[in-house]
Amino acid sequence: MIKVPFIIGNWKMNLSFTEAVEYVKVLRNKLNGSGKTLCGICPSYVFLKEVCDSLKGSGVSVVAQNIHSEIRGAYTGEVSAAMIKEVGCSYTLIGHSERRHVFGETDSFVNAKMKTAFSVDLTPILCIGEKLDERTDGKTESVVRQQLKEGLREIGIDQIKKLVIAYEPVWAIGTGKTASPEQANEVHLFIRNTIKKDYGETIANDLYILYGGSVNPDNARELMMQPEVNGLLVGGASLKVESFVEIIDRAKNQ
Ligand code: PEP
Repeated sequence: MIKVPFIIGNWKMNLSFTEAVEYVKVLRNKLNGSGKTLCGICPSYVFLKEVCDSLKGSGVSVVAQNIHSEIRGAYTGEVSAAMIKEVGCSYTLIGHSERRHVFGETDSFVNAKMKTAFSVDLTPILCIGEKLDERTDGKTESVVRQQLKEGLREIGIDQIKKLVIAYEPVWAIGTGKTASPEQANEVHLFIRNTIKKDYGETIANDLYILYGGSVNPDNARELMMQPEVNGLLVGGASLKVESFVEIIDRAKNQ
């Protein structure tokens, strides 16, 4: 299946409210009628409502950077999937490498969040990827297989159909060291084949697998030319709207 590229900008803990409002205004204008890409941005929680309202009808999706695994309760400082859904988000990242490696999130916590996201009809973008020592030790496939298996444990086939996966090698995130297009394609193919074995060919072929890790306007096109790369998850290079739009344009014209 030919897929329209899906390009997501992850702002992480960056941009002020004023900058976010201006960014969204410019993005809306620049993308107006440009078609041929799916696009999303991940603002800070506190700007989600404002950004969702400003982007209504634009075709740009608003993606949460994280959710908690519980829908409500005594979890001071946390934000639930139901709240995220209520303000207008359609997707959430789950298991981003900074959540796993800075905040110590385990595969079982990731799995609980996956189930919660699906329960409120929020599409999860499951982020997986190996650390540098794991790649050097030849463990990339086993790490990715384990994160997939644990992250998707006990999730039904109807939900797997809606899943998006982001392959983000930890050593490439925010480091300026992008995986080569061939390295990215190789792991994407492994992910797709793993999904094929567990859930069948149709689901595997329809699955969106995004690449993330030091994507910028100079490497976006080459990455998107790989047959298994269906989109990009962009951190640092999405913080300036001009650079994000350039990445979208390059991805579109691969
Ligand atoms: C990310 O945050 O998911 C990411 C890929 O960051 P960067 O593009 O800055 O490496």
